[in-house]
Amino acid sequence: MRNKFIPFSPPWIGEEEINEVVDTLKSDWITTGPKVKKFEEEFCRYFNSPSALALNSCTAALHTALVTLGIGPGDEVITTPMTFCASVNVIEHVGAKPVLVDVESDTLNIDPNKIESAITNKTKAILPVHYSGHPVELDTIYDIAEKYNLYVVEDAAHAIHAKYKGRFIGSSNNPVCFSFYATKNLTTAEGGMLTGDPNFIERARIISLHGMSKDAWKRYSKEGSWYYEVVYPGFKYNMTDIQASIGLWQLNKLENFQRRRREIVNMYNSAFKDIEALRTPIERPEVEHSWHLYVLRLNLEMLRIDRNQFIEELKNRNIGTSVHFIPIHLHPYYRDKYGFKPNDFPVAYENYLKIISLPLYPRMSNEDVYDVIEAVIDVVKKYRR
Ligand SMILES: *Cc1c(COP(=O)(O)O)cnc(C)c1O
Repeated sequence: MRNKFIPFSPPWIGEEEINEVVDTLKSDWITTGPKVKKFEEEFCRYFNSPSALALNSCTAALHTALVTLGIGPGDEVITTPMTFCASVNVIEHVGAKPVLVDVESDTLNIDPNKIESAITNKTKAILPVHYSGHPVELDTIYDIAEKYNLYVVEDAAHAIHAKYKGRFIGSSNNPVCFSFYATKNLTTAEGGMLTGDPNFIERARIISLHGMSKDAWKRYSKEGSWYYEVVYPGFKYNMTDIQASIGLWQLNKLENFQRRRREIVNMYNSAFKDIEALRTPIERPEVEHSWHLYVLRLNLEMLRIDRNQFIEELKNRNIGTSVHFIPIHLHPYYRDKYGFKPNDFPVAYENYLKIISLPLYPRMSNEDVYDVIEAVIDVVKKYRR
């Protein structure tokens, strides 16, 4: 057993990021300015995005997207229970009603075959989440959206570098929201990106910054002017040049990060695939998984302990894990407001009891990976039924 704790997902910040941040701090401009602009441009080039807006979180990107689309009180937005609370909180923020649709049992993504029966004449948008980095069935979801005249806002917090049918997530014209939170595949400590159609992004940019028709950098630079107009009571969601300094280098390193993630996933898969008490995650042939999370599922009938005890056993062996996610309908706010019962979304609920996210980050050494594998196998052997 290893004696040093393996954390679940630490960031990997190098000298390049540090030097770039210092360069920004020593410059005359530390908030939204030239480095944010460069980060947006390089992001667009990398992912083939029509246009991009850097913000201070994915939550900000989701909120801005819904407001820009004009979604509000009286409207309904269809989403998944198997997500982080932010995906659903933003629907509440705009005063709309979240309508949950259960997930598919293999990918744990929203089940496209169950979406149509949840559509009413109030439905305005579908907000799918690319769970763990495995893209949702976008073609089916786009078809439904077209048929019922709905928007599609993608929560791509896990899906940077993921591909659906050969195309990067974020290369489409509908709003797509990325997260650069500390644990995500690309981090700026806190941060996010909203991509989509250039006209939409232009409106979103204004709404994300006080609803002002001109941003501060343009106002305060030499070619700028003091004059601006407030056209909407907007938000304060801008990214700083300090964050963009980190993001620019993380984007440079992303391909290597992703290659290493996949190596680790392959090591996990080959170690666990023949163990009956475990179920390894899948990757459908038409997608490229971004492997933000490695979600292992326990076949509980084969074990004498439950998931929570399994996590404790791993912790005792110095392995840090997590659970993604506690389904939305179990949280008191949503449970009480909408009267949800655990089995209202049975696939999400049953899988919630079985899932464990194992450590997965590019800085993991092979030794770290072997130690995780050894610990998991040890727990299975000890508690096999
Ligand atoms: C991390 C995460 C978010 C929120 O991202 P922030 O950048 O922290 O706002 C939203 N949705 C999902 C699925 C996430 O995992």
